[in-house]
Amino acid sequence: MSPTTAVHVRDLHKRYGPKRAVDGLELSVEHGEIFSVLGPNGAGKTTTVEILEGYRHRDRGEVSVLGTDPQRGDRRWRSRLGIVLQSADDQAELTVAELVRHFATFYPEPRDPEELVAAVGLTEKAGTRVRQLSGGQRRRLDVALGIVGRPELLFLDEPTTGFDPEARRSFWDLLRSLRDEGTTILLTTHYLDEAEQLADRCAVVRDGRVVALDTPAALGGRAARQVMVRWVE
Ligand code: ATP
Repeated sequence: MSPTTAVHVRDLHKRYGPKRAVDGLELSVEHGEIFSVLGPNGAGKTTTVEILEGYRHRDRGEVSVLGTDPQRGDRRWRSRLGIVLQSADDQAELTVAELVRHFATFYPEPRDPEELVAAVGLTEKAGTRVRQLSGGQRRRLDVALGIVGRPELLFLDEPTTGFDPEARRSFWDLLRSLRDEGTTILLTTHYLDEAEQLADRCAVVRDGRVVALDTPAALGGRAARQVMVRWVE
């Protein structure tokens, strides 16, 4: 593993009873890239991300995230990660702006809350209580909360599900600007166009293993594209 590697996964396995959710998955993410894990429902994307975030234990395999095994990650390690959680219901009485400002207080060098609300397209909702947001708006808010602390490495699990086309495009712009600032991003998606538009490199997963890994352009030029399209449809 080179010093430029942010995430390294080798021969990762996770079963739920008889179901092999992750079955020998291998990938590595370089610092500063947007790396996409593309696959259909049930491919093992969420399970993999949860293992990388340290929320789920693996059965076997090697995993390193920012040089640390997630199963041994401490608070300091966790503070370097951007993890998107669903905002809790007891926070739902706050307004969007209040909740983002509240989260900003947890970090030494937070992003400007107002700019962040604008960047996720919620300026018009800044004064709205969180419980009154639509599902897509709430997801965007959750993403804002995940990046307010300027993480080195951001995990996004199907972040644009429920977004309208304009919100997706502006969200992609936000991720590109985060990448340009030096943030490493690992993003799962089942949208082929999202991987094509955003990713520097893309791993196509199916049945818990990587079946193709390359730049989207290179993948697009091969039979893998047809396979991906078929899965995604
Ligand atoms: P989706 O896009 O639908 O979220 P995914 O690629 O994220 O899918 P996972 O959620 O990791 O895939 O699920 C991989 C497989 O493991 C699926 O067959 C799923 O039904 C199964 N699975 C996931 N979580 C559990 C669980 N807690 N108990 C049992 N089976 C599970």
